[in-house]
Amino acid sequence: MLRTPLLRLATTFRGQISPARLRSALANANKILEAELQSIKGAGTWKNERIITSKQGPHITVQGSREDTLNFCANNYLGLSSHPEVIAAGIAALRDYGAGLSSVRFICGTQDLHKNLEQKIAEFHQRDDAILYASCFDANAGIFEVLLTPEDAILSDELNHASIIDGIRLCKANKYRYRHLDLTDLESKLKEAQKHRLRLIVTDGVFSMDGDIAPLKEICDLAEKYNALVFIDECHATGFMGPTGRGTDELLGVMDRVAIINSTLGKALGGAAGGYTVGPQALIDLLRQRSRPYLFSNTLPPPVVGCATKALELLMASAEIAQSMAAKTKRFRSEMQAAGFKIGGADHPICPVMLGDARLASLMADDMLKKGIYVIGFSYPVVPKGKARIRVQISAAHSNEDIDRCVDSFREVGRKHGVVS
Ligand code: PLP
Repeated sequence: MLRTPLLRLATTFRGQISPARLRSALANANKILEAELQSIKGAGTWKNERIITSKQGPHITVQGSREDTLNFCANNYLGLSSHPEVIAAGIAALRDYGAGLSSVRFICGTQDLHKNLEQKIAEFHQRDDAILYASCFDANAGIFEVLLTPEDAILSDELNHASIIDGIRLCKANKYRYRHLDLTDLESKLKEAQKHRLRLIVTDGVFSMDGDIAPLKEICDLAEKYNALVFIDECHATGFMGPTGRGTDELLGVMDRVAIINSTLGKALGGAAGGYTVGPQALIDLLRQRSRPYLFSNTLPPPVVGCATKALELLMASAEIAQSMAAKTKRFRSEMQAAGFKIGGADHPICPVMLGDARLASLMADDMLKKGIYVIGFSYPVVPKGKARIRVQISAAHSNEDIDRCVDSFREVGRKHGVVS
C-alpha cells in the first residue's frame, strides 16, 4: 500500500526526486505508521484475521484449530450462504452469464439477470423499484449526496453504521446528529430543521453492534409531524425480521411509512456480496443517473446475482425460513443470562456478550476458539471505548446442541477469566 504510490511518485518525477530523498520520505512515513501500529497493539485492539478453510456455515474448519469448529459470528442469519439451491443457482449463473461484465452498468454491464433481481427486491420490500450496488457500503455512500443538497437536512442517529456516516460526509446537506434512539432529541432537531427544504431521518433498522432496534413507529410519527422522510439501513434485518422476513419496517408495522431502504445481499440473503436501495421510482431513476458508486464501479458478477436471486425466491416462497431462528435466539439469550453473562440488545440474533475491557474480549475469544467455538471480540474503534464485547450471532442453521455447546464453553471460559462464577 505504502510503497506503490511513493514509487509511482518517484517514477513520475524521475530526475526531480533523488533516491536518497525518496528513501528518507519512505522511512519517515514508515516511522509514523509503525508508531500507529504499535499503539493499536499496545491498546489490545489489534485485529487478527483467522483463516477459514471450508464453506461458510454453522460448522467450519479454521486453519490451526480443531477439526470441527462451530461458527457463531457470521451474518449468515438464515444459513443460506452454503444452501445447496443457492450454490446451484450461482453455478448456473456463472455457466450461462459468465464470471463478470468487465463494465459498469450503464456501459455494457446490465444483464436481464440484474433487472430480474432488482424487480424481485422491489417486490420483496413492496416498493416501486430497486437499484443494485457492489455493496451496501456503496449504496450508503451513493445515496445522500444525490438526494440532498445544501438546501436540505439530514438527521442521523449517532450510532448509525460507518458507511452511513461516510455517505453523510459526502453530502452537502445540513447535518443533525441525534442521540442514539432518543426521540426527544430527534424531535428537537426536527424542529430546528424546519427551515430546510427537505428533511431525511436516517437510522439503522437494527444496530449491528448492540442488536437494538430503532423505534420506527415513533420515528415515523415524528417524520409525519415535521414533514420528513424516513430512511432505514436494514442490513441486519432483511430476510428475518418481521413475520415474513421483510425487515424491521414489517416487524413494527410501518412498511408504508418508511420511504427508503438500503440493505445488503452479503448477510442473510445468501451472503455473497452486493447491496441495494429500494424506494420511490423517481429516487431510483435519479440514482441510476447520478450515484457515483453505481456509475463508476463494476456491475455485480452474475454468480453473485444468481445466488441472491435464489435466496430471495426461497424467502418469498415460504415464511418458514424467516421464522426459523427466533426460538434459537431466545434459547441462547436465556441460557447465557442464566449463566450470569450480560447480553446486550433484545430479541435479535445479534447477542453481544458485554465485557467492557478490550483485552479481556480478545483473550476470551481466543480461549473460545481453543474449545472449538469461533467468536470475535469487538473493541474500539468498532465499538466505543470501554464497551468491548464478544458479538455472538445466531443462525437458523445452528442446532440446539450447537447453541448449548457454545453456552457451555462460554461458562467455562467466563469462569477462567472471572467474568462469571
Ligand atoms: N450497513 C450496516 C448496518 C452493516 O452492518 C454493514 C456491514 O457490515 C453495511 C451497511 C455494509 O454492507 P456491505 O457488506 O454490503 O457493504
